[in-house]
Amino acid sequence: MAIVETRNLSKHFADGVVAVDSINLRTADGEFLVLLGPSGCGKTTLLRMLGGLEQPTSGEILIGDRVVNHLPPRARQIAMVFQSYALYPHMSVRNNIAFPLKAAKVSKEEQQRKIEWAASILGIDHLLDRKPGQLSGGQRQRVALARALVREPNVFLLDEPLSNLDAQRRASARDELQVFQREIGTTTIYVTHDQVEAMGMGHRIAVIDSGRIRQLGTPREIYEHPADTFVATFLGSPPMNLVPHGNVLIGFRPENFVPADAAGAIDPATELSFLLEHIREEYLGSEKLIYGEIGGVRAVSRVAANHPTTHETGSSGIFVVRRRDVRIFDAESGLALDQEPPRIVTAPAASAQVAP
Ligand code: ATP
Repeated sequence: MAIVETRNLSKHFADGVVAVDSINLRTADGEFLVLLGPSGCGKTTLLRMLGGLEQPTSGEILIGDRVVNHLPPRARQIAMVFQSYALYPHMSVRNNIAFPLKAAKVSKEEQQRKIEWAASILGIDHLLDRKPGQLSGGQRQRVALARALVREPNVFLLDEPLSNLDAQRRASARDELQVFQREIGTTTIYVTHDQVEAMGMGHRIAVIDSGRIRQLGTPREIYEHPADTFVATFLGSPPMNLVPHGNVLIGFRPENFVPADAAGAIDPATELSFLLEHIREEYLGSEKLIYGEIGGVRAVSRVAANHPTTHETGSSGIFVVRRRDVRIFDAESGLALDQEPPRIVTAPAASAQVAP
């Protein structure tokens, strides 16, 4: 087990691309830390530097409080699992798992013991004599994990290991991986661009954009208190509504934005109300999305499909959000501001108006 830390870690590629821009992060021991961000934000480059596959341009990497910049991958006591799994197709599962042990000249008996141990943790005991081509995607992933596990690494580095699986397998593989990590207690850094995966698996999530960490926090912290508008809109589906108001943006999540007639009388002390215009409802089975515009800006409400209100296409309605569910952002920088929501009332004819 080990803590992984980076200090002002940067990677500039020769063509001027700044893939990783002065990243500082520190895991807890045994933590499952997710690196989440859009394609090209630098997640893989960061992970490859931690693993020793890419040399940093500047900054330090520490594993177990020891600077490892100069150490080759083998000496870092980490195990990496990539999207492709990179299993040897001509070798049995047993020999695939044994491969790193043979390379490390571990005795035959010890190899056997470790293979059985890893195979039983991952539930692949019955597959040891098969070849990778005879396995499902989920099983291959478990073999790749077993091969990583037998080395008893201090740190797991996982790069989108579930992305080859279909939606259903992905969900179960996600659960398995999470249970496995909790059991084994090995510090794990997991790269994904999938917010559902990140929210469900991570103890904490580092949201990355353009080579920088926008926010590092628990899933609840980053969802409920996004540090800026990038995080606010990258997480959540649909994303947080952002309504311009003077030099700030008023942010609220669709599930906190509900038709006023169902909420009862509006209490301006605890609620903000908005006139939602040009309404269009979208039925999604268990819930429905109510799209519309507030003063020309798109906004959406998410309610249960059996919600008592219905809206004709093109109609308007008053919608409310509790003041405590409102977040305020600076309109220019996009940064979250620690300030009370403005007092807004909705007049019947206009959209949002400010009360005196
Ligand atoms: P994805 O989710 O698509 O894999 P990512 O967040 O993992 O993306 P990286 O692969 O780390 O992103 O790439 C970050 C940036 O660095 C991108 O702009 C990419 O084009 C660039 N990049 C990556 N590797 C190299 C390289 N060897 N030479 C030049 N530029 C590179």
